[in-house]
Amino acid sequence: MRTKKQKLKGIIVWDFDRVLFDTDRMVDDNNEIFAKYDISPELIRSILDKANIQEGPFSWALLVRRLKNKKKGVPLNSIKREMQSNLLSGRYVRSEASKVLKNLKSNGFANMLLSFGSPPYQYQKIKKGCGPQFCRYFDETAVTLGKKYLKFRSLVKKFSNIPIFFIDDTNEHLAMVKKHTPSVHTLQYSAQSPLGAVEEWIHEQVQRYDSSGNHSARG
Ligand SMILES: [Mg+2]
Repeated sequence: MRTKKQKLKGIIVWDFDRVLFDTDRMVDDNNEIFAKYDISPELIRSILDKANIQEGPFSWALLVRRLKNKKKGVPLNSIKREMQSNLLSGRYVRSEASKVLKNLKSNGFANMLLSFGSPPYQYQKIKKGCGPQFCRYFDETAVTLGKKYLKFRSLVKKFSNIPIFFIDDTNEHLAMVKKHTPSVHTLQYSAQSPLGAVEEWIHEQVQRYDSSGNHSARG
């Protein structure tokens, strides 16, 4: 993260799944692959629910272990290869993501990626699924299975004189951040609407922040 505070206009903390990444499309594609091998989405769902995995994304290692027990003779390596090939094609990164991240970065904002999930799996989606250029738009990338709001405590302390934004689709994360660090400007956003609207919202918030004079305005 850059530390020249006077040059930084704001910090944008982005969620990954269903914000910058089309997770639902990936899940649909994966279910199609499973279906070819006679594995129903319901079976996958029940395995994942039982494992108590939140947020939809599955852990491949866990799924393989469970499937091996439940369905004999499933070509797990072929399934994995097909999924990997979809992921590597870059089809799940939101089409506008690069443009919006690049615009904001060149306008003086720092982008930070804060993703919830199992780190090996999330990093695979981020690095392999979105590519090196996408990764370069972020000053920092973090994956956690812990509480997202904890990250904001240090951010708010360190960058007390610039606005901090948090874009996420999950109400639980947003509510906790609002509660524990109320100066953070939060936006509930999901991949259904254009990402350009988020960019506009950020610029509006900055204008308000600047014109409010006192930099303790709540967003
Ligand atoms: Mg999400």
